[in-house]
Parts: sequence; C-alpha cells; structure tokens
Amino acid sequence: MIINISHLIKGNNDKIDIKTQMYHLLPESKDDPIEVGGILYVEDNVLKVDLQVKVQVHLVCSRCIEEFICPLNLHLQESYNLVEDQGILQNETIDLTELLRENILLNLPIKPLCTENCNGLCAECGTNLNILSCKCKEEQVDPRLSVLKNLLNGDE
Ligand SMILES: [Zn+2]
Ligand SMILES: [Zn+2]
Repeated sequence: MIINISHLIKGNNDKIDIKTQMYHLLPESKDDPIEVGGILYVEDNVLKVDLQVKVQVHLVCSRCIEEFICPLNLHLQESYNLVEDQGILQNETIDLTELLRENILLNLPIKPLCTENCNGLCAECGTNLNILSCKCKEEQVDPRLSVLKNLLNGDE
C-alpha cells in the first residue's frame, strides 16, 4: 500500500485519511479483505501513522487441527523521522505494506484454538472429540480395578 505524502512533506498542516481494503497480504487472510482505516500526518518532521486494521484470518486449531476463522482488530501506530529517512522524502511516498503485514503476523495467536474449550483429538484413535465421541476413554481401566481385571483374565 503505497501512499503519496508529498503535500504532507511540503508542510501543509494537513492529514491523509485512509480507508481502503487490501487483499492477499498474507496467506492467513486467504481471499478475505483486510480493512485498513486511519490517518497520516506530519508533526515536527515526523510522519505519524495511526491505523485501524480489521481482518479475518484462517487458522488451524492447535488441538483439533480443524480450520477456523479468527477475527483480528488491531490499532497500530508508527512514526517515521523524515529527516533521517531520506528515502521517504525523496520519493514523497511511503509503503505501508510491510508495516501492516508484520503487525498482523505479530498478533496471530501462538497456540490457535477454535474455541476456548476445544476438546481436541483423541490421543488413541484421532477422533475429533468436538464432533464425535469415541470409546477409548471408557476402555481405559481404572488402576484400582486392574487387579480385578487381571484376576478375571487369569480365570479364562
Ligand atoms: Zn479445535
Ligand atoms: Zn478415541
């Protein structure tokens, strides 16, 4: 997302309003739009970027490995010193693509969960316990009863 900031640099006490949609900034956003809104303005030779970002990311649950949609709402602020960053001054533009990408990535959950109390997969048979139940747990014998079970087996 490249923005022309020439009239901000020229010292007009102005701001640039941003309201746009971006697509395919990162694989997790798939075909969903990334809504970006906010303002850019210059204060004492510093370019200030103040943005709200709204995106739905498609993640894989770390417990049940099902894909799910996670809405993210971010507020990001960044400053660029125009005196030190001559590149911005020369081109009179700023590219916010990397800033957006990095901030979305930083805010992705490390251990994504489809729901707070996802039941995950059965460690024995791999059944998704959110959808189905399996008999693995029932077959696990209480250690206090295993003596009895051994006795019974011994009788066979
Ligand atoms: Zn899950
Ligand atoms: Zn099972």
